[in-house]
Amino acid sequence: MVQSSVLGFPRIGAQRELKKITEAYWSKKASVEELLAKGKEIRAHNWKLQQAAGVDVIASNDFSFYDQVLDLSLLFNVIPDRYTKFDLAPIDVLFAMGRGLQRKATETEAAVDVTALEMVKWFDSNYHYVRPTFSHSTEFKLNSAAGLKPVVEYLEAKELGVETRPVVVGPISYLYLGKADKDSLDLDPISLLDKFLPVYKSLLAELYSAGAKTVQIDEPILVLDLPENVQKLYKGAFEQLTGEGLPEIVLTTYFGDVRPNLSAIKNLPVSGLHFDFARAPEQFDEVVAAVSDSQTLSVGVVDGRNIWKTDYTKASALVNKAIEKLGKDRVVVATSSSLLHTPVDLANESKLDPVIADWFQFATQKLDAVVAIAKDVSGEDVADLYAANAKSIKARQESSITTNPEVQKRMATINESLSTRSSPFPERLAAQKEKYNLPLFPTTTIGSFPQTKDIRINRNKFTKGTITKEEYEQFINQEIETVIRFQEEIGLDVLVHGEPERNDMVQYFGEQLQGYAFTTNGWVQSYGSRYVRPPIIVGDVSRPKAMSVKESVYAQSLTKLPVKGMLTGPVTCLRWSFPRDDVSQKVQSLQLGLALRDEVQDLEAAGITVIQVDEPAIREGLPLRSGQERSDYLNWAAQSFRVATSGVVNSTQIHSHFCYSDLDPNHIKALDADVVSIEFSKKDDANYIREFSDYPNHIGLGLFDIHSPRIPSKEEFVTRIEEILKVYPADKFWVNPDCGLKTRGWEETKASLTNMVDAAKEFRAKY
Ligand SMILES: [Zn+2]
Repeated sequence: MVQSSVLGFPRIGAQRELKKITEAYWSKKASVEELLAKGKEIRAHNWKLQQAAGVDVIASNDFSFYDQVLDLSLLFNVIPDRYTKFDLAPIDVLFAMGRGLQRKATETEAAVDVTALEMVKWFDSNYHYVRPTFSHSTEFKLNSAAGLKPVVEYLEAKELGVETRPVVVGPISYLYLGKADKDSLDLDPISLLDKFLPVYKSLLAELYSAGAKTVQIDEPILVLDLPENVQKLYKGAFEQLTGEGLPEIVLTTYFGDVRPNLSAIKNLPVSGLHFDFARAPEQFDEVVAAVSDSQTLSVGVVDGRNIWKTDYTKASALVNKAIEKLGKDRVVVATSSSLLHTPVDLANESKLDPVIADWFQFATQKLDAVVAIAKDVSGEDVADLYAANAKSIKARQESSITTNPEVQKRMATINESLSTRSSPFPERLAAQKEKYNLPLFPTTTIGSFPQTKDIRINRNKFTKGTITKEEYEQFINQEIETVIRFQEEIGLDVLVHGEPERNDMVQYFGEQLQGYAFTTNGWVQSYGSRYVRPPIIVGDVSRPKAMSVKESVYAQSLTKLPVKGMLTGPVTCLRWSFPRDDVSQKVQSLQLGLALRDEVQDLEAAGITVIQVDEPAIREGLPLRSGQERSDYLNWAAQSFRVATSGVVNSTQIHSHFCYSDLDPNHIKALDADVVSIEFSKKDDANYIREFSDYPNHIGLGLFDIHSPRIPSKEEFVTRIEEILKVYPADKFWVNPDCGLKTRGWEETKASLTNMVDAAKEFRAKY
């Protein structure tokens, strides 16, 4: 009997229970007991669900209140000193590291003011992990203050009658994905491996004592370009982690092709290897050949990153190929990665067109997929399931929803001149200076203002039909006016309308574009309690009518200062959607570029002549390995942006925005935007700033962290700007926050922005 295996299940709950309880806890509306109880309830539900579906290998420790990598930092005591001096409960230390903590002293609690640790993309997914931060004083030990999470959760499942396989990020990946703290910049985290392994091993021993026979160790960095010294660490490390009193190990890799690092994992003393064949089927022959005689192969065929129905026949064919080589006992049918990256349950989508819904599988449906394929290759009769599956696959292939001849005709018109501004930047800059006459250190924001409860209530009322379209629009206009007046009052130079009408920066446009489908409950965790509901690209994309002009024009009518039009760029629309898997991402991106080009031109024609086209997702789309695929990606990504933005006159100022640091200035250069803003507040690296000082156009380096509720003082802004000015020219300098302010409250937004503008004014006076 071939076993079925799921590498991890979404932890957010089918109705976002996790978000609701954590946010209630943060705002002191729920107790720590209620928080922990809800976590337990979600875990129990997920295990039972998988058990009922017939999944053989079910993961535990795939749950987290914030992030699974951050959990390890707490567990292994990788806690920078600044979080330990307040005597916080373990869960609060976790949240402080994840999102920062600022609170005033009360009778029972001391004042706390700490920033969050850096948060970065989890490979090329839209999930973010909190970066482990090491220093010379890092002292690895099992931190049992709140119990050993993997052990606690393993036992919890066991008590429910579910035998699970605990999952833990592997020791080499954990170190490699971390960074050195400010005070220890000469430290290479990977050099800590020898110190770390004994502690990691003691965790495995604890799991074994608790009864865990096998542990899933994720080493996702094996799909990256790994330096040779890191590749060489695997053998020794895993030799240390196996033996008497320790569980067997299944080493898992996902999100790509491991072949360049295959020598690192050949003949490791692990009992099984897992590979992602949904993403990288081309590695099949070589990686299967590398499985040693005593090892099992976990065949990742059910895509953990997308929502398309698995083609059962194709999947079975691949698994059978593995069985031919290894025999049924040594092959496991698995999801390609954790299902964390897919929505929880398609059954919650009552509004989706049933024709289209039949093409999808969400996490819950993927359980059935893994089980069906395992049964089929075991020789059980699942003919009905396979016939139904084949019918859906064929229906999608033949559907007229997926193709639009008009769009395809227009795609043929894309050429160099369509994707190039009519003049180089210096000429555009002159025209823009004349038009706007902005001061030095111009101030602006990235676009969104707080999405208050009031906004959500009114949007809900409108969706449910309890208020009319007119009433809703009137409400939105009032919100826009509030945001405009506020920005005028504190002295910002380039205003925004605040985006009260937008639920999400991609979904909002997706809902107005043809070729998209969207869900009502298809949430996926992005970070912490922030979830996104990615729309789904199902066919050729086009824009039937203007999407954002009305709100921008209204905002501009209220003020003499320039109001930025706000759009989401083609690559970000693509990356933050579930893309089609039947045409290339390049084609989808260029189609989006054309659709947005129409919007940019409509905005310009309506008098909105500062236009920001956000591309925060360009970085995350970067193929994980260098080489041809990466340079091709960068070419079509930049071209898509330029297709969208090159149809305007010189005096129209095109802005763009990028979330997350670790950007290569060259990638941004190719977009040729007049002004770019990038997240920057957590960067302390003068070399990095210097790289950007060579950037030919203008840049706003983000000055404060919008993921955290803490309020930087004016002095903090001044110090930060002074630091940057040591290596960065003043005449290219824009002053802005890291990112949009939608997740923040008004109080902290007002205070932070006021301090930011005051700091800018101080520099303006000086220069
Ligand atoms: Zn951003």
